[in-house]
Order: sequence, then structure tokens, then C-alpha cells
Amino acid sequence: MILRLKRQHVRLLKEEARKVHPIEACALLFGRLTRKEAFVKRVVVTANELQSTVRFEIDPETFVKAFTEADGEGLEFIGLFHSHPAPAKPSLIDLKYMKLWGDALWLILSSTSGSFAAYQMRQGQVKEITTKVE
Ligand SMILES: [Zn+2]
Repeated sequence: MILRLKRQHVRLLKEEARKVHPIEACALLFGRLTRKEAFVKRVVVTANELQSTVRFEIDPETFVKAFTEADGEGLEFIGLFHSHPAPAKPSLIDLKYMKLWGDALWLILSSTSGSFAAYQMRQGQVKEITTKVE
């Protein structure tokens, strides 16, 4: 699996992470999915309801609204974005939630180093996914 992102999306996510640092920023990623690639077409930045530096939560109503709008445009849910004021690796809490999110891709940005990485849980194993910014 390859996660393809537009430069403007990366810029938006980095800006949001910088703005809320050290709180974790979060966003929903929508776009087109094939068996091998996920093309992000829309990024919906959301508030972190927990205002926490170690975990995030998105308001369910915001979720439903974003899903409905994306669906109306024929876009699929690709995954979740959030930032860490730490390295861009899934935390133990993330791993717990990744198990519940099926094939969703998890894009994590380090708001301290500016680097990011994507992950996917397959059959209980976390795999790092190649990301391409274009
Ligand atoms: Zn996390």
C-alpha cells in the first residue's frame, strides 16, 4: 500500500500541528482507494476533543458530517491523521485503536521534528506504509 498526498495537504496538516502543538492535532483523510494505493483528495481538520498531548478524540458529529460530505462526492474514507509532540510512531494507545479501525491508514506527524510516517494494521501487525508527496 502507498499513501499519496498532495503537497498542499501536507502543508495544511503541518500548519495545524504547529498551531496546536503540544496538543495532538487530528484530521480525517478521504480520497480514492485501490488495492495498492490510497490517493488523498480531501483533508478535514478536526478539533481534538481531549485537548491532550498524548491522545486524541474526534467528535462523532464531526465524523458523520465529514463522512457524509465525502460520500456525496464519491470519496472513500482512507484514514486518520494525528500529530505527536514526539516521534511519528504509533503509541500504545494508537495500537489499541488501530485494531478497531480495520484497514484504515494512520498518518502520524511529529510536531517536534516535522517528519511523518503512515501505518496500517494488517492481521494484528502494524506495517509502515510508503508515503508519496506530489
Ligand atoms: Zn498517537
